[in-house]
Amino acid sequence: MKQYKRIAVAVDLSRESNQILDQAVSVCAPQAEISLIHVVEPIASPYITTIPPVQPAGYDLTLMENFKQAAEKQLVELSDDYDRPNLTMHVLTGSPPKEIRRFAADNNCDLIVIGTHGQHGFELLLGSTANAVLHGAPCDVLSVRVDLGSKQED
Ligand code: AMP
Repeated sequence: MKQYKRIAVAVDLSRESNQILDQAVSVCAPQAEISLIHVVEPIASPYITTIPPVQPAGYDLTLMENFKQAAEKQLVELSDDYDRPNLTMHVLTGSPPKEIRRFAADNNCDLIVIGTHGQHGFELLLGSTANAVLHGAPCDVLSVRVDLGSKQED
């Protein structure tokens, strides 16, 4: 199998995210660059009523900033278990499939690793994010079947 050198690993920060990162690590070269990415979706706020608006297009930037900080912390916790010199973390904002594809294209990734199912997709054959990433992906995509029973409650 081809050894991938520049990999984007997309995680939704659910408890199963480690399974996706495990699989990514196992298919890439030891010195491969691994970008662990999470996308925070914009949160519309019905409460922004100032004129002129202090925030663009009705999005709650304070709440989003809090989510981004929480996501950064969780990415650090997730990556702590992996001794990979070239692992970097990225919190992006926007539509997850679009941002995952864009990140992979902008950074010349040769592989995107994603969970077959995440928080939205259990009733589907392929989760909505994985499905959308596949359409128009700039490189190979590995969708990892996540085992929900493999990690016990804390
Ligand atoms: P889902 O579409 O919720 O079934 O998610 C399928 C997979 O897409 C997850 O296992 C993650 O690998 C990825 N994913 C979903 N949401 C995000 C997100 N906000 N940021 C990064 N990756 C995500």
